[in-house]
Amino acid sequence: MKIVVDWNRCEANAVCVRAAPKSFQLDDKDQLHVLTESVPPELRAQVEQAVRDCPKQALSLSRD
Ligand code: SF4
Repeated sequence: MKIVVDWNRCEANAVCVRAAPKSFQLDDKDQLHVLTESVPPELRAQVEQAVRDCPKQALSLSRD
């Protein structure tokens, strides 16, 4: 399971960071970073929550 970000949609509002802080981080230039491109099983629920919560629908999960 991999995190896919649509960078054209992301507006760096940090909703995903709050839902899954081990997987997403914003730097001091408001650039989003994905910390766990491959999602470990213990973080999957958090990441799925972040995908649902993203107000820009910028996040999705890929199976490969
Ligand atoms: S919640 Fe969505 S729009 Fe906001 S920083 Fe995360 S990916 Fe970007």
